[in-house]
Amino acid sequence: MDDKKNEKVVHTRISKKLFDKISSKAKKHRITTSNLLRNLVEDYLEIHGEVWDAIDEKLRNYLASGEDSIIGYQSIVLNKNSNCSLCGKTLKKGSQVFIGFFEKLPQKIIVCSECKEKEEMAKK
Ligand SMILES: [Zn+2]
Repeated sequence: MDDKKNEKVVHTRISKKLFDKISSKAKKHRITTSNLLRNLVEDYLEIHGEVWDAIDEKLRNYLASGEDSIIGYQSIVLNKNSNCSLCGKTLKKGSQVFIGFFEKLPQKIIVCSECKEKEEMAKK
């Protein structure tokens, strides 16, 4: 089968406790342990990849639409490396960035100083 050529087998060591948890979940959903793990990995990669990018894109469009605006900023010093929610630029631990609070959305975003200035200019 050609499909088999493009598949790899992953071996990983896990605790008995985790194994039992996975097998009982698989039984409950009537799928194989292998299928459950494959689904979990696929979901994880999707959520942490494209979906997050889509959320950032949505936020940018949401702000650009004028439907909502950032009501204020709070200056913070990053304790972890992060990314600007608006331009995606890498922000290093120890750098000063801003938390943007929306007027309507409960969500908060991390904004670099350039994006904060751009947003402020747009409001004038
Ligand atoms: Zn930015």
